[in-house]
Amino acid sequence: MNYDNLEMRGKNGVKCMVCNHYCELSEQQTGICGVRKNENGKIKSTVYGKVAAVSVGSIERNQFYHVLPSGFAYLAAPDGCNLTCPFCGTYESRKETGGHEKVDMMPKDIVRDAIEYGCNAIAYGYSEPTVYIEFVLDVAYEAKRNGLKNLLSTNGFMSDIVIDSMTGLIDAVNLDIKCFSESKYREILNADLDVVRGNLEHLIKNGIWVEITTPIVSDFNDSINELSATAKSIAEIDKNIPWHLKRFFPAHKYKSSYPSSYSIIHEAYLAGKEAGLNYIYSTCNEEAKNTVCPACASKLIVRCNQQVVKNNLTEGRCPKCKQEIPGLW
Ligand code: SF4
Repeated sequence: MNYDNLEMRGKNGVKCMVCNHYCELSEQQTGICGVRKNENGKIKSTVYGKVAAVSVGSIERNQFYHVLPSGFAYLAAPDGCNLTCPFCGTYESRKETGGHEKVDMMPKDIVRDAIEYGCNAIAYGYSEPTVYIEFVLDVAYEAKRNGLKNLLSTNGFMSDIVIDSMTGLIDAVNLDIKCFSESKYREILNADLDVVRGNLEHLIKNGIWVEITTPIVSDFNDSINELSATAKSIAEIDKNIPWHLKRFFPAHKYKSSYPSSYSIIHEAYLAGKEAGLNYIYSTCNEEAKNTVCPACASKLIVRCNQQVVKNNLTEGRCPKCKQEIPGLW
């Protein structure tokens, strides 16, 4: 595929159009993500085909609860990220750490392995997949040709060009809203909440199925006011967007912190309900493990440890009251 639209000539170098940092790179300079470099006047992805993490797991494990229940996804991720979250659970995947040992895998290898393992989808995540978008799109193209779905988890700081390039290839996106404070986004995460929210709406407008994850991080975003504001902002866009509440465990610069409490996760769940969200999920809350019909409260998808135990959905509807349940079934 041709990716010329991912760069532009700038005043002092070549401008990368992949994410909202829009780094302008002089010859041999590398961008903030550490994995895109100006080489001979062209921006090159330095991690194309250099896979640092591979796993096979349930689609639910990739935080997609409204996509092919009981399905499996194959994840193959190079290193790289464009944000600076101090609580990052996969910090080793950042380029400045030296990253993991790499295995050379081309798009065809990944799709072949996914099929051999009986997977229904390719998952892009672990690191930030939009910073190596050429690799993602080449794998996604091959996956689609072979009847697999493409599921991408992201921090949501990509450019509009990347969203439009993903459209038609990426079936579903899980987007992180990591807090609800402009200043924390700017000063701590090196990103922009407005951009992330704008991208959420852009993805939905382009017909991509979207679920949202909020990591509840001790001493960062675990105030009920902030979590409640996050829930309301999602509900304003669409009450049917699934909201995943993820428990935090001490990591990276927050190593001496403590895991998020079950009580704050439950409070966030209640705040989501009060905001009118129909689908709120958490592995740490009994009420939030299953998919329940918002019209008649029937249990539709029963889960245990992010695996589907029973799926009562019938052609995407509640079998009892026939309420349509949104998702990719
Ligand atoms: S993808 Fe990397 S190089 Fe490109 S703008 Fe973002 S941080 Fe900069």
